[in-house]
Amino acid sequence: MRHPRRFPHPTAWLASALVLAAALAAAGCGSTLGVNQGDLNLISLEQEWQLGRQLEADLANQLDLVRDSSVTGYVDRLGRRLVAQTDMANLPWEFHVVNDPEINAFNIPGGHVYVNTGLIAASGDVSQLAGVLGHEISHGVARHGTEQLTRVYGLNLVAGVLLGENPAAYEQILAQILGTGAIARFSRSAEREADALGVRTMWEAGYDPQGMVTMFQELLTRRRSRPGSVDQFFASHPLTEERIADTRQHIAQLPDKGGLISRDPAFQSVRQRVSR
Ligand SMILES: [Zn+2]
Repeated sequence: MRHPRRFPHPTAWLASALVLAAALAAAGCGSTLGVNQGDLNLISLEQEWQLGRQLEADLANQLDLVRDSSVTGYVDRLGRRLVAQTDMANLPWEFHVVNDPEINAFNIPGGHVYVNTGLIAASGDVSQLAGVLGHEISHGVARHGTEQLTRVYGLNLVAGVLLGENPAAYEQILAQILGTGAIARFSRSAEREADALGVRTMWEAGYDPQGMVTMFQELLTRRRSRPGSVDQFFASHPLTEERIADTRQHIAQLPDKGGLISRDPAFQSVRQRVSR
């Protein structure tokens, strides 16, 4: 592990926080889907985005990120199309592809979503990748990551981490993300919320939400046949048959909508590039 890196000087932190505040005000914090009305969260959106920028910079030094723009551009466009349907559409989300054959994807605070090449390779078509991205984006929109931070660290430690006064706690958060792709294991209720919101987001963005069900089933199948390939995903996202049944129910309740996308030839060329 590298030497702990501190946050920028508080003045620089404040300046960037103020700039961000305008964007956040434009985005609005209201909810139309009953998001974010559950667990205690002591971290403001401004603080969350600041923490996300710091984590992103450190993760960039420690993960093998894909630079091939035909791959990253595709994932970025897909992610943005999904985010556009959420309450956080006006915030600067970023999507990253990690060169790692293990099947995993994760969201960290501050609108950063990471997807492994192994998950893209395991997706049969674009709606399956959209299902996982929709789920991860929904963890971010529902602010499950910072709810966990609040739960694990409490107010004083959280403030210290954000101001760079507690590098040990920051390094612990970074190490947990590198190890499991999350700050802690998400609760079942957080998973249910991310599934329901993800289905809705996919549908509104024009993707067939059935792709989420297909992908979840694929993950359960691989857990039986090759458990090592999906360990990280299951370590942070408890996935069960019950969740898949609930997801089917959410889909069944959606109004009819023609032209939902499940296939995309461009996805197949991206998949080929990362499967080599
Ligand atoms: Zn999850």
